[in-house]
Amino acid sequence: MAFVMPLCALGAAMPASAQSDYDAQFLSYPTYNGDDLELTVDNTGTHFRLWSPKAQEAVVNLYTNGHTGKPYSTLNMKFDASNGTWTASVPEKLYGKFYTFRIKHDGKWLNETPGVWAKAVGVNGKRAAIIDFATTNPDGWNADKGPEVKNFSDVIVYEMHHRDMSMHPSSGIANKGKFLALTEEGTTTPSGQKTGIDHLKELGITHVHILPSYDYNSVDEANLWQNTYNWGYDPQNYNAPEGSYSTNPSDPSSRVREMKEMIKALHDAGIGVIMDVVYNHTAENEGSNFELTAPGYYHRHRNDGSWSDASGCGNETASDRKQMHDYIVNSVKYWADEYHIDGFRFDLMAIHDTETMNDVAAELKKINPSIFVYGEGWTAGDSPLAVERRALKENVSKMKDIAVFSDDLRDAVKGHYTDASDRGFATGKPGLEETVKIGIVAATPHPQVDFKKGNNSKFPYAASPEMIVNYISCHDDLCLTDKLRKSMEGEPEENMLAAAKLAQTIVFTSQGTPFMFAGEEVFRDKKGVHNSYNQPDSINAIDWANKTKYNDLFNYYKGLTALRKAHPAFRMTKADDIAKNLVFDKIDSKKTPNLISYSLKNNANGDSWKEIKVIFNGASKAQEVNVKGGNWKIVASDGAIDPEGNLGTTKGGKITVPAYSALILAQE
Ligand code: CA
Repeated sequence: MAFVMPLCALGAAMPASAQSDYDAQFLSYPTYNGDDLELTVDNTGTHFRLWSPKAQEAVVNLYTNGHTGKPYSTLNMKFDASNGTWTASVPEKLYGKFYTFRIKHDGKWLNETPGVWAKAVGVNGKRAAIIDFATTNPDGWNADKGPEVKNFSDVIVYEMHHRDMSMHPSSGIANKGKFLALTEEGTTTPSGQKTGIDHLKELGITHVHILPSYDYNSVDEANLWQNTYNWGYDPQNYNAPEGSYSTNPSDPSSRVREMKEMIKALHDAGIGVIMDVVYNHTAENEGSNFELTAPGYYHRHRNDGSWSDASGCGNETASDRKQMHDYIVNSVKYWADEYHIDGFRFDLMAIHDTETMNDVAAELKKINPSIFVYGEGWTAGDSPLAVERRALKENVSKMKDIAVFSDDLRDAVKGHYTDASDRGFATGKPGLEETVKIGIVAATPHPQVDFKKGNNSKFPYAASPEMIVNYISCHDDLCLTDKLRKSMEGEPEENMLAAAKLAQTIVFTSQGTPFMFAGEEVFRDKKGVHNSYNQPDSINAIDWANKTKYNDLFNYYKGLTALRKAHPAFRMTKADDIAKNLVFDKIDSKKTPNLISYSLKNNANGDSWKEIKVIFNGASKAQEVNVKGGNWKIVASDGAIDPEGNLGTTKGGKITVPAYSALILAQE
C-alpha cells in the first residue's frame, strides 16, 4: 500500500449535499455500544464479541505468535441478531496469546483482521494480542495526572514528532526515536544545552502534542534498522500505540508500557500530552480493519457505491453513523482512561459531524475536565456529509468545548502555504493587516475588525477565544525557517530571525490558544522540503546544535511563554472581554502598511498590568508609531524580550519600531 499523504489545509466552501442512496442501507444496521467489544478477559475466561451485522459466519483464530505460524485453535462465533454481534468464549485467561477475526460476507471469507478494537497487537499490527494491562503500568501510575487546565487559553501547545525530537546525534538522547526519549532527564547537546524533556521544561510550554502515535501502517516494525520515517497519518489500529516508537514491537506490552512511561515523565514535569487522532480515514480501503469486520458500514460512499474521499487519502469515515460515532467517542475515552491523555487534536475534523464532536468533548469532560479538544476545521475534498453538519471552523460556535485552528492568522502572518515565495504581514507584504487582526481577536466579534476584509473567513466564527488555536506553522507545508528562507531570499539571516520572532510574538500575544511547531525555537529547518511526511531523518530530525547557534532566538521564545503565562490579559476567556478590553489604535494601512498597534486595557482578565501596548511592524523598514504619554515599561523591543518589563522605560510619544519587530510596553 502506498504511503498516504495528509492534505490538511483546504478550507473552501463546499456545496451542500446529503447522504448517498448507497449509504442509506447502513441506517438499518443494529448497533452495539457495550464496553466488551471484541475482547474481555475476566475470571470466567476470555470472551470475544465482534460487531458484524451482515456477516454470514464469523470465527476467531487463536495464535501463539504475533505474526507467523498457523492458528492453534479456531473458534466458531454465535450471532445475536438483536445487536449485530458475534460471540465466542474460552474458559481460560489467554494472556500471551494472539487472535484475529474472520468473517464470511456475500458468500466469501474475507481476510483475517485483528478487529477494530485491538488494544495490543503483534509486530506490524496484523494480529491482536491478549495482555494484562495492569502489568503495563509504570510505578505510581494510579496517582498519575496531567496538569490541571482552568481555561484552554492557558494552554501552550508544542507539536512534535518522536523522531524529530531525538534522532539527531546532537540530542544526546539514548532512546532515539522512541517513546522513552522523553523519559530521559539530564540530556544535553555536546556543548551542554538541554535537550529532550529538560528542553521542554526550560522552554515553558504546557502541553506537547504528539503526532499520530496509534499503530499506523507505513513503517515496517519488523525491520526497524531501515529507520523508515513517517508522520503516521495512515491509521491501522486506532487503539494500540505505534510499535516503531517502542524498543520491542514484537512484545505487545512494550509499546503500551513505554508510551505510559513517556506520559508519566511528562506529567511529572507538569506537561500535558495531546494526541493527534486521525479517525477521518483509514490507510487502506478494502484492507482496512473497518472493512474486514463490517464491509461498507464505517466509510462513506457516493451514489454509485464508490468511496467518497473528503480526506484526499482515498476514503473517508462515517461519524454520522451510530456505530462509527460511538467508536470515535469510545476510542478517545479509552485513551483518556488507560493512557491519561490530556487532549486530542482531530485531523480533518470537518469530515466528522458536529454532534459527534460535541459528544467527544462532553464524554471526555466527564473523565477529566482539563482535556483539550481541537482540530482542523476543514476537509481536503468534498463529502456526502451536509456542510451544516460538518465540524468546520465556520461551525465552531455550534460546538461546545472544541477549538479549531485559525488558518487566518497562519496565512496572513507568514504568507500563503501554497506559494513558497509569498510573503506575509511579518515579512513585508502589505494588505494583510485586517486578517492578522482577526487572529488577534481569536475570530470573535469585535467592533474594530472588519471580517469582510479577511482573506480566509469572512465573519466572526468563534463565539469565544477558547474556540481558537493560533499558529503560524505546524508539521504541514514548509516549516517557519524554510518559509522565511524562501520568501526572504536574498536578505540577511538576521532579518529572517527578526521576522521569526515577530511572527511568533503575534501568535503568543493573540487571544486564543498558541500552538508552535517543535524546533522552531532553535530555527530548525527541513532543508526546504515541504511536506516531509516520508522523508528520512536527515530532513526531519532537529539538529540541537542549533540551540547554541540560535540561542538568542531560543531565549526569546522562552520569554514569550513566560510573558503569556504571567499575564492573563493575553488569555481572555470571553468574547465580550476582548471586544471591551482590546482596543486597536487607528492606523491607515494604506499609508503605513504592515503596522498594527493595540492596547489591552483595564487590567484585562485580572492582569497586574493596567494597560499593555502591543505594536507589530512587519515592514522591511523602521516605522514610527504614536504612543500616548505615560510611564511605560518596555517588555519587548527590537528582538529583545523581558517578561518583567525591565528592558527600560519610555514616556510615550513618537517611537521608532525597527523593521520586522514587535514593541510591547506596559503600564502598572
Ligand atoms: Ca505500525
